[in-house]
Amino acid sequence: MGFVRNLGDAGVEVVVEGTSEAISRFVKQLQTERPPTCTIHQVDVTHPPGTGEFKEFRILKSDDSRVHAGSVIPPDIAICGNCLRELRDKRDRRHDYFFITCTDCGPRYTIIDALPYDRPRTTMRDFEMCDECSREYKDPSDRRFHAQTVACAVCGPSVTLVTHDGRRIDSTDPIREAGRLLERGHILAIKGNGGYHLASSTLLTEPIVRLRKTKFRVQKPLAVMARDLEATRSFAEVTPAEVELMTSYVKPIVLLRKRAEFDLSEQIAPGLHNIGVMLPYTGLHNMLFDETNERAFVMTSANPPNEPIIKDDEEAFVRLRDVVDYFLVHNRRVAQRCDDSVVRWLDGTATLLRRSRGYAPAPISVAVPKDTCTLAVGGELNVTSCLVYQGRAYMTQHIGDMETLQTLQFQKEATRHLLTLTGCRPDVVGRDLHPLFNTTKYAQELAQESNMRVVPVQHHYAHVAGLMAEHNIDEMVGICCDGYGYGNDGSAWGGEMILADHNGHKRVGHLEPQPMIGGDLATKYPLRMVAGILRDQSELANWLGEREQHFRHGKEEISMILKQMRSAQTMTTSCGRVLDAISGILGLCHERTYEGEPAMKLESAALGGNDVLKLEPVLDGEVIETTPMVREVFASIGRLSTRDLAYSAQSYMARSLGKSAIAVANELRLKTIGFTGGVACNEAIAHILRVTVESEGFSFFLHKSVPPGDGGLSFGQAVVAAKTA
Ligand SMILES: [Zn+2]
Ligand SMILES: [Zn+2]
Repeated sequence: MGFVRNLGDAGVEVVVEGTSEAISRFVKQLQTERPPTCTIHQVDVTHPPGTGEFKEFRILKSDDSRVHAGSVIPPDIAICGNCLRELRDKRDRRHDYFFITCTDCGPRYTIIDALPYDRPRTTMRDFEMCDECSREYKDPSDRRFHAQTVACAVCGPSVTLVTHDGRRIDSTDPIREAGRLLERGHILAIKGNGGYHLASSTLLTEPIVRLRKTKFRVQKPLAVMARDLEATRSFAEVTPAEVELMTSYVKPIVLLRKRAEFDLSEQIAPGLHNIGVMLPYTGLHNMLFDETNERAFVMTSANPPNEPIIKDDEEAFVRLRDVVDYFLVHNRRVAQRCDDSVVRWLDGTATLLRRSRGYAPAPISVAVPKDTCTLAVGGELNVTSCLVYQGRAYMTQHIGDMETLQTLQFQKEATRHLLTLTGCRPDVVGRDLHPLFNTTKYAQELAQESNMRVVPVQHHYAHVAGLMAEHNIDEMVGICCDGYGYGNDGSAWGGEMILADHNGHKRVGHLEPQPMIGGDLATKYPLRMVAGILRDQSELANWLGEREQHFRHGKEEISMILKQMRSAQTMTTSCGRVLDAISGILGLCHERTYEGEPAMKLESAALGGNDVLKLEPVLDGEVIETTPMVREVFASIGRLSTRDLAYSAQSYMARSLGKSAIAVANELRLKTIGFTGGVACNEAIAHILRVTVESEGFSFFLHKSVPPGDGGLSFGQAVVAAKTA
């Protein structure tokens, strides 16, 4: 007998009356028989004398008094096994109800307008419960007791199928009809929990090509949703660890290795050895497959180039009617847009490539002073915001690349939402060192509007500081490799050895600076990096001449490049640009159409290769030389296989970075070395680096809760900024 109530910060208060044995049993059961998605952070037990005032066990109205005290905001949860069984059970009253949910599953963050998490503060408030649902909601013995998303076909959201020009299709079974349309080669926009997806068949190439044209995604890999694990195994290899990730309550996109006999369209992930696969995470997704033979559907976020995922119906119809053939929509509002999360099992660790649906905004514990409240706004690509408050870091969902006003607007909304939900008023805001980033301007705006102190944090230091905070380490030699970050001296950094400790950070090593011919053009066209690095090679002019078709302006452009390379150029220590150059030399990628493309194709090409060059790392003081390696690869084309050369180049980068880090660590008597930055998502490099470092007796660290790439930047910035508070 007693009661339970929400305390508004996702903490609960339970009062029970009974014999002391019964109470101890209850406290024990609370921890052993908790629901699968429930995390118990802490249990405080007090034993006041019984009063005999309780006649039953009740759920009381939420207490709002603690809303503003480091609230835990629940992320979305994929459909649970019990709901899936009921969905399929002809005798169940929710048979075929596409938005079936219970206390253990369903959307959370994407429907919450405010805390505490109760129905009137979610977008479910538009749907009044029918008598049956209401009875379940109030019955403590029912598995939908107090489930805020409880609904059924009578009272809950409904789904409709609409043509691209807005004509409603009269169907008694719109979801299965949508599945059949996909199988027949149509493109559909499908509204989910966190926004719209674009969907198509995975077997037919025509709709995928059409989708690529309209999404301006020439080569970028598209995620797919597979019917089930068995279907997944028909086109991808799935290890037990990956099965666990795929079937977890998050059901993220997991990057899997394509099978040798991959028989889905090559247009899904062209030139790559892996494919992003997720399992159906709502009733609707499950039902899509019912009357088709498709093993998987393309399921990619519906976002115009460089804009956030579309969430509102009106916008979807305006922006997508020329892209899709049909819309499958429902009538529940999306409160917070949220893309699918992407995870890759990498060198023994589940690595988040994109932390969004199912993870955001669940907090990550960090060791910073408890009374600080600090915000950080990320960099320029894959931006997230992060709030550190009471020893917890809350990261927003994936926002995107800050290239359009829409994305900036989305970041402002998501950040404001996070601040409202937690009730925290930051006095410090961390930002990137780059003076012109949109996020830099945003931080300055916040400083003026809300009186925050701005703390600029160097890009690679932020990555390393984040890695240290995740593992609760005080000092580390951090290897940070990525495409671009504004250096302390204003130049382009991206292959850095950062010593970080309680005093701050110091650059203790870096890759050899290489020229970027034509500045930013060298980021887009890898052959320009090749020309810059190999500028002294006599065969270069001829070699470029033979690749005339890869230059937009042909011969003219090549002679311009040959002229430019004699004069001063922007220099970069970027690891990404060196990998791009190798990808260009080996003919794997001549134009970068999405972030990381040349390096990702290099990694795919190197799969199963051997280190045939076995080059000794060339270190010159703090500088790790890369020219000798690039020269060697260039001299070996045609003589050695592309696969072995690709592998040898990656091996050189990993071993030379490792050797340099070990030298620094030995000198400073440090035992910990970490690897971060976008290049840390490269499996071969991460693995060789680990072996190199561990074989010399050092501890090696990779990210586990935060993305290694710029999606994790705000986390590191917030941690650094919090320490200045
Ligand atoms: Zn459920
Ligand atoms: Zn109902």
